[in-house]
Amino acid sequence: MHEKKNISQQSRCGYVAVVGLPNVGKSTLVNRFLCQKISIVSPKPQTTRTSILGIFSQGNDQVIFFDTPGILEPHYRLQEVMEKSLDAAVSNADVILVIVDASDNRPESKKLFTSFINSFRNTVEMVLAVNKIDLVHDFNESGQLYSDLANGLKWFPVSALCGDNVEALLEYLISLLPYGPKLYPDDIIAEEPERFFVAELIRECVFNLLRKEIPYSVAVKVEEFREQPKRSKDFIRAIIYVERESQKSIVIGKGGKMLKAIGEKSRAEVEKFLDRPVYLELFVKVKKDWRKKDGALRELGLIR
Ligand code: GDP
Ligand code: MG
Repeated sequence: MHEKKNISQQSRCGYVAVVGLPNVGKSTLVNRFLCQKISIVSPKPQTTRTSILGIFSQGNDQVIFFDTPGILEPHYRLQEVMEKSLDAAVSNADVILVIVDASDNRPESKKLFTSFINSFRNTVEMVLAVNKIDLVHDFNESGQLYSDLANGLKWFPVSALCGDNVEALLEYLISLLPYGPKLYPDDIIAEEPERFFVAELIRECVFNLLRKEIPYSVAVKVEEFREQPKRSKDFIRAIIYVERESQKSIVIGKGGKMLKAIGEKSRAEVEKFLDRPVYLELFVKVKKDWRKKDGALRELGLIR
C-alpha cells in the first residue's frame, strides 16, 4: 500500500530556553544562531532584562529560543515579573541549553551551575554549551568538569563570538525537538516582549494613581514602539483602555491633569526599565466590557 508521509512527522519544532549566569554569552549565542542581532549584547552583566524570543527557521524545522534574563538586581520592581519570565521560559521549554563560560574559574559559578542542574534534572532535555573556548588554552578540562558535575551531560565546546562549533550545537538542538509543524512564519525572527513590560509599567502607574476609582477596568496596549534613527529617544505610543465613558473622564482628569501625571510617571518608569530615554504618547479609549470578551483579551495580549 502506498504510504503518504505526513509533514508534521518530518519537521521538528519546539522551544529552547537559553540559561546561564550573566555574561556567559547567552545573547551572543542566540544572535549567532539567528545570524542577527536581536538581543542586546554587552560586557556589562544583566543587559538582557526580558526573555527575548528568537525564532530560527530552516527547511521544515523551527527552533524558538528564549534568551532568559540572568541573575537579577535586588530591589528591582519588576524582579518578580522577570523571575516569572525565567521560570516560564524554562517550564515551557522542550530543551534547556545551559551555557557556561570556559574562562570562568570561580567556584561559585560551579555551585550555581550544580544547583540549577539539580532543580531541572529529569524534567526536561538539557544540553551544555561551554562557551568562550577562544579564551582558554584547553577547554576540555573545564568542559569535562562541568559535564561531570551534571552527571555526564552532553556538552559542546563553542565560541559564540567566533562561531566555532555553533552549527553542530544547533543541529543537535533541533534533533531533540518534538515533531511538529512550524509555529511561526519563516520571516519572523523575534517577538517583542519589551512591549509587554512597557504596557505593564503603564498599567501599574494608572493603578497607583487611581487606585480606588477604577480598579480592574484598565488594560494597556502598546500600539507603536520604534527607534527613531535621527533621535536618541525611542517613540512609544500606548493606549489605555477602560470599560466605560465615566472611567475615561477619570483617567484623563480635569483639564487632562491625571493623564499628564500618568504619562510623566510612566515615562520615568519605562526609561528606568529600558535604560534609555523614550518619547511616550498616551491615549485613552473605551472598549466596552473588554474584560468579558475573549476577542478583546486576546487583542490586548492577556490571553493567547
Ligand atoms: P549574556 O549576559 O549571557 O547574555 O552575555 P552576552 O551575550 O551579553 O555576552 C557577554 C560578553 O561576553 C560580551 O562582551 C560578549 O562579546 C562576550 N562573549 C560572548 N561570547 C563570547 C565568546 O565566545 N568568546 C569571547 N571571547 N567573548 C564572548
Ligand atoms: Mg544577555
